[in-house]
Amino acid sequence: MPAQDCIFCKIVAGEIKGERLFDDDQVIAIRDINPQAPVHILVISREHIESLIRLPSEKAPILGHMSAVGNELARHEGLWPKGYRLVINAGPDGGQSVPHLHLHLLGGRPMRWPPG
Ligand code: AMP
Repeated sequence: MPAQDCIFCKIVAGEIKGERLFDDDQVIAIRDINPQAPVHILVISREHIESLIRLPSEKAPILGHMSAVGNELARHEGLWPKGYRLVINAGPDGGQSVPHLHLHLLGGRPMRWPPG
């Protein structure tokens, strides 16, 4: 999908308005429009990278940054010490529906394992 048609690129660019919980030069964070838990936040890379599998190894440090932002938001949302989950879905079987790299922060209820 070309970046100009990407919903997350439009959100990153500010073409679609909404509350930003976090914003820096690498990522933004917003609440998921269809929450799967009481807290469901998306940490979205500013750069359009279609999927985890498309992340070149030299850009892998962004995953550490996305995790750090997810952890900070989890603290801010009061999810610790009860716990939370950070998830990246990749590809159709992974449950990815938006082809732009993002991390889900889920919390506020016990998570099941294995995931559905
Ligand atoms: P995934 O299925 O892992 O690709 O996750 C994509 C997520 O983006 C889903 O949980 C959707 O509910 C969410 N989503 C799609 N469009 C929007 C939007 N405009 N604002 C916030 N979340 C969105």
